[in-house]
Amino acid sequence: MAYRMLTDLPAACRSSGLKVVLVPGWNRRGRPASTGSFSPRGVVAHHTGDSIGNNSSRERAYAGGTLASGFASLPGPLCHIGLGRDGTVYIVAVGRANHAGRVRNSGFMRAGDGNSQSIGIEAMNSGFEGWTDVQLDAYHSLCAALCDHYGWPRRNVRSHAEVSTSGKWDPGINYKPISMTTFRRGVAAVKSGGIMALSKREANAIAKAILNYEMHGGGKVPRESFGERLRRIRISSMETNESITRERGDTNKILDRIVKKLGA
Ligand SMILES: [Zn+2]
Repeated sequence: MAYRMLTDLPAACRSSGLKVVLVPGWNRRGRPASTGSFSPRGVVAHHTGDSIGNNSSRERAYAGGTLASGFASLPGPLCHIGLGRDGTVYIVAVGRANHAGRVRNSGFMRAGDGNSQSIGIEAMNSGFEGWTDVQLDAYHSLCAALCDHYGWPRRNVRSHAEVSTSGKWDPGINYKPISMTTFRRGVAAVKSGGIMALSKREANAIAKAILNYEMHGGGKVPRESFGERLRRIRISSMETNESITRERGDTNKILDRIVKKLGA
């Protein structure tokens, strides 16, 4: 049976526009081939059950610790990707991971060995704290980016609760699985290939190119924050002559999205 190493996982995740952190050893990590094959056709969504709270440095340590190494009773990696509460993507492993266990027929998933058929995402959530829009939006974007990158239909996203043969209820809240009909609708609605799909670095490069252009045409640029400079371009663009107003309007929309994306 085939055993793939998804070394392009960072690129796949970056196309979501989310911040991506590589957990040391990510590109070699996976269960031994002797434990089974790995040829994924979709994604399984989980929650970790951790009680870290909104603390990205502790989440990063958790991704490199528990998610990478697992437990004596369940050796790691426990997923391919950890998803922080702030939407940060932690790449944990690229080979087979211990996340789905035995599964039943559900969507793309065929009854049997779930780990051979799927990428596992562990969203960092206690299961009792609820789900913020920040984390859910990131979850949708991440699933959409993975499906698009690997050429799977976006419906190829199942929850552990849907595929489990042992009564798992994640991802969920207070023992109740979240609605995967709603979740998949969110994944389907994610825009692809747009400016929001750019990485932060790419968005920065575009913004800098626009700023350079403005500097070239506008002469002296005062010292000001990045956000202030973008806002100034927006204001000055409103004062330009009418023939290019439409084009400027489109640029403003792009700039708005860049500002939003960078939190500038
Ligand atoms: Zn799970």
